[in-house]
Order: sequence, then C-alpha cells, then structure tokens
Amino acid sequence: MLRPSASSFPIFVDTHCHLGDGTFDQDRDAVLTRAREAGVGHVVVVGGTVAESERAAQLAGDRSGLSATAGVHPHEARHWSEETAARLRDLLTLPEVVAVGETGLDYHYEHSPRAAQRRAFEAQLTLASELGKPIVVHAREADEDMAAMLRGASGRGPVVLHSFSSGSGVFEAGMTIGAYFSFSGMITFNNWRLGDRISACPPDRLLIETDGPYLAPVPHRGQRNEPAWVCLVAEALARARGEPVASIARGTTDNARRLFGARLATTL
Ligand SMILES: [Zn+2]
Repeated sequence: MLRPSASSFPIFVDTHCHLGDGTFDQDRDAVLTRAREAGVGHVVVVGGTVAESERAAQLAGDRSGLSATAGVHPHEARHWSEETAARLRDLLTLPEVVAVGETGLDYHYEHSPRAAQRRAFEAQLTLASELGKPIVVHAREADEDMAAMLRGASGRGPVVLHSFSSGSGVFEAGMTIGAYFSFSGMITFNNWRLGDRISACPPDRLLIETDGPYLAPVPHRGQRNEPAWVCLVAEALARARGEPVASIARGTTDNARRLFGARLATTL
C-alpha cells in the first residue's frame, strides 16, 4: 500500500526495525527511499547486542529520520557484564539513542539461561529508569516471570511491549503499569487470535512496527521485512479497531513522539 498522494496524510513511524542487520547492507538507502515513499517518516533502529547497538547509533547519527536503541536481547543475556552496562550507558548519552533495549525474556529459544535473562533484563530496567529513557521489551513464552517483572517495574518509566503477542497475564500487567503495546506484522497472519487485545488497548498506548527483517506482514510473509511495510500493519490495526488508517497513523505517530521524544519528529 502506498499512502494517498494528499500531503496532509499523516506519516507512519516504524518503532522497531533491525535496520543495521546485514540483510540490509546491499540496499539500505533504497529501503529507506521506499519507506519514505510509503509515508514512513521515522524508523527506530534497534540494537540487541553492544555491536548492534553501536551500529544502530551510527546509522541514526548519520541520517535524520532514524533513531536508535541500545540494549542486550534475551538471547544474548549470558554475555551481560559490567562492561556491557558501561558501554550501553555511554551510547545512551547520545541524543540519537532514544531507548534501552531490546531486552526481555525468551523462554521459547532459551539461548541464554533463564536466570541470566532475568538478571540482564533487571539491569536494563534499572539503567532505563536511571537515565529516564523508555525500555523496549521482548516477551516470548515467559508470561509468568514477565508479568511479575513488569509489575515490579511499576513507576520506573515507560515500557514498550514490542511485537505484542503475549497472554492475558502480560497484557494485564502492561495495562496496570501503563505500558505501550507495539503491534507487528504478526497481526496480519492467519493464526493471529488476539484481536480482543488490539481492541482493548488504549488509543494513547498503541504503536506500530515491522521488526524487520523479521515478521514480514501478509502478503509478503517469509520475505525480508522492511519499514515501508509498516503501512500494512497500520491497515490491519485499523481494520481490527474499526478506525480509518489515517487515524491509526496519526495516533501511533503522536504516541511514538510522546514516548521517544522530539527527535522522532525528524523525517527521512
Ligand atoms: Zn526485534
């Protein structure tokens, strides 16, 4: 879908894309041109390791319309150390690095032991609240621990539940602490069963994302995902909530700017 030609149509923000991933190395500029042509104004480039976070910060420093996050993904949590924390803290002093993450818990793959995941997540929650930055959270098949840790983080600062697809315990914990719910291309999949969560999400807590290069929305499922396709997520969200796409675009962009700060107003 391309946006209508009317220039008054609100822009979209892709709040979560791994744009530093090697799969974009050959054509990153073309990817961003397609995003701009599709009406995407800003992309938050996510880091999941120190190296990826450095790369994300570099991309965001080089180009308006991009911001970065700095964090350690639960898959990598076994590598967490004081040096990691210090390096992330340095990156997070840069104006283009707008949030901590992605961090969280993933007991599906369990690439790092569960205790190491909880420790790294807790340390990043602390870092985010010390620095006054939002935190971007990945949650997969860890609902009980995730809900408990979210409730424990109450009052510490804004939380984004990215590519939201968790059960009711995590949803309710997120609602209790005023978390933001970011929806991805998963909501376009045939097996998506959580339409009631989309309807129940407060309008001022909704975000959209691609999670590129992963989770390409229908009809691109299985391909490399890219920011231009966040429009397809917005369309699916609009259908699920019975709202016009323009109001979803306007609402989610306002939410992203309020959450991540003024830098999100710069455009590609
Ligand atoms: Zn991600």
